[in-house]
Amino acid sequence: MNKNSTIPNTKVSIPPIWMNRRVMCQIMCTIGARPAETGGILLGPIGSSVITAFHFDQSASCSGVTYSPDHLTLRRMMQEAWLPAGVDMKGFVHSHPGSFDRLSEGDMIYIRRLLEKNPDMTSFAAPIVIPGAFRLRPIIVLSSQPALQHPTTLRLI
Ligand SMILES: [Zn+2]
Repeated sequence: MNKNSTIPNTKVSIPPIWMNRRVMCQIMCTIGARPAETGGILLGPIGSSVITAFHFDQSASCSGVTYSPDHLTLRRMMQEAWLPAGVDMKGFVHSHPGSFDRLSEGDMIYIRRLLEKNPDMTSFAAPIVIPGAFRLRPIIVLSSQPALQHPTTLRLI
C-alpha cells in the first residue's frame, strides 16, 4: 500500500475510477486543451460507478484560480435530461494550473458538501487535469472518509 500521508493506515480499499474511453477523450479535448481552471460533471448509469458520459461546464465561472461549477444549469440538466435518461452524477473533473495535481481545500469542502447532499454516493470521482502536461490524475474521495483524497488508478473501458 502507498505510504502517502493522506492515505490512512486502515484496510479500506480504494476503488479505481472506471471510465469510458470516449469520455476520457472528450475531457482531454475540452478541459485538457484549455487553460486552467475549467471543468465538468462526470455521469454514469444510476446504481453503477462507471463513468459513461461527461458534460463540459461551458458556463462555469473560471477565474484561472478556482473552478466554480454553474450549479443552476447543472441542477436543471440533472432533473430534465440526465435522471430521466437513467444517469446520475459520479463526480467532477476540473483542471489546475501549473503541476498541482491534488484537490485543493476548496475542492474538498465542495466535494464533502455534494457527498452530504447525495447520500447514495459511496465515492466521488474527482480527477484533476493538468493542461500544461496534457495529463489526468485520477483522484477519488470516499463518503466514509470525506476529508481524505485518494490517488487511484484509471481503468478505461
Ligand atoms: Zn481544484
